Amino acid sequence: MEITDLISRLTVTSDVNVRQALQAIEAGSLGIVLIADPKDGRFAGLLTDGDIRRTLLSGVGLESPLTAIDRRKATTVRHDTTREEIVKLFSDTIRVIPVLDVAERVVDLAIYDRRAHLPVAQPVLGERELVYVTECILSGWISSTGRFVGEFEKRCAEYCRVPHAISTSNGTTALHLALLVLGVGPGDEVIVPTLTFIASANSVVYTGAKPVFVDSEASSWNMDPAAVERAVTPRTKAIMAVHLYGHPANMRALREICNRHRLHLIEDAAEAFGSTYHGEPVGSLSDIATFSFFGNKIITTGEGGMVLTANPKLAEHCRILRDHGMSPSRRYWHTMLGYNYRMTNLQAAVGVAQIEKIDMIIEAKRRIAEDYVAALADIPGLSRPHEPAGTRSVYWLNSFCVDPAVVGVDRDFVMAELKKHGIETRPVFPVLHQQPVYAAGPHSPMPVAERISAHGISLPSDPTLTTAEINRVAAHIRQAFQTQTLVRTS
Ligand SMILES: *Cc1c(COP(=O)(O)O)cnc(C)c1O
Repeated sequence: MEITDLISRLTVTSDVNVRQALQAIEAGSLGIVLIADPKDGRFAGLLTDGDIRRTLLSGVGLESPLTAIDRRKATTVRHDTTREEIVKLFSDTIRVIPVLDVAERVVDLAIYDRRAHLPVAQPVLGERELVYVTECILSGWISSTGRFVGEFEKRCAEYCRVPHAISTSNGTTALHLALLVLGVGPGDEVIVPTLTFIASANSVVYTGAKPVFVDSEASSWNMDPAAVERAVTPRTKAIMAVHLYGHPANMRALREICNRHRLHLIEDAAEAFGSTYHGEPVGSLSDIATFSFFGNKIITTGEGGMVLTANPKLAEHCRILRDHGMSPSRRYWHTMLGYNYRMTNLQAAVGVAQIEKIDMIIEAKRRIAEDYVAALADIPGLSRPHEPAGTRSVYWLNSFCVDPAVVGVDRDFVMAELKKHGIETRPVFPVLHQQPVYAAGPHSPMPVAERISAHGISLPSDPTLTTAEINRVAAHIRQAFQTQTLVRTS
């Protein structure tokens, strides 16, 4: 629809009645009606459907003149106002701003498109975070002492049904501590999936041990237990399972391998806070588990991490290492080489507010995943990892593989096309065994992970995405595939 048509549909003169104004709101479908002066067409105000609803409830009838409704002063802009200035005027209540010419007539409408930009992930922060952080500031407890640190640890332990939780400065330091307290060190090997974020492997190297990379399963994208079995050597000390993109790894198979070879089992659950495996929360499925609360994770503390374990000795050891190796019974007395890996009360304050809304976040994440499945179902050449049977994934990111043989375009082309429309995407992690820091090898062949890594793309997955926005992403993916088909046949 041309903007002039839209404006004329939305406009009534100030001498009409309430019913006619409602009809204009209905016709324009923006939830507002513009009011013009009957003499010269000058802008004379704006009413929202809410304004009219309130008036009707107060007893004013449909046939009453529009003048019976109180009109607030409307926000308008001149036609030479810059885009940046207009954007600043939008708020929860102001979503349509009339643009006036010199004669004060409406010539355009600035409409708040809720998302010109759809991010891959974004924290859901609100009033509770502000209240708790404010409490830290007002009380002066902003460092690593304060009530929120213990409170956040307790909440995480309860949520994951694990007796001990030790907060840390980030997910990588949590992994480092977990490996150290298991006794992983020089000469040891730790089996790590090649398809994960680099911190899974780096933390192994920090201990002096060597990460041994293994291939993924095509179905879940997680580490393939058969490949793990083949990678076990006399030097293997532990297996690090990563719940990639939120989908729980095959913990039963991995546990069985660990039992048979007397290995430790670690969970890097950074991407999967809240996922469950046969009814058990991730974080409770191994000897020691870690989370990350980086800004794009399921819940965030800005930067932050957590170690979870049922073993009180490991927990105590983590607490000492986290705090410079200081003896719990004697101040400034250091019994071992430690680190400063503590979380601050400020971070934990955000964490407590976040865990209070974990159910809402997970529900939104799962709804988004369902919406993607529905929206993308009829597009051939797209495949996604499946939530393994018996598990409930939090779908940290919605990731898909684009099969270039089927659709005629590659992943990078689709990403570039979506970017043109303000849709942010990420490539799936590049496999670790090909990264410059780890490429020296030797490595076993990893065809499945290499294929996923080369063709995988993560789509916007932040919890506030609407179904309409997901349909928009799907429409642009469809269009990207078709663009290429046109180019090829012409
Ligand atoms: C985010 C992440 C980490 C590291 O967490 P930080 O808090 O950024 O240090 C580790 N492993 C995986 C799989 C991750 O996704």
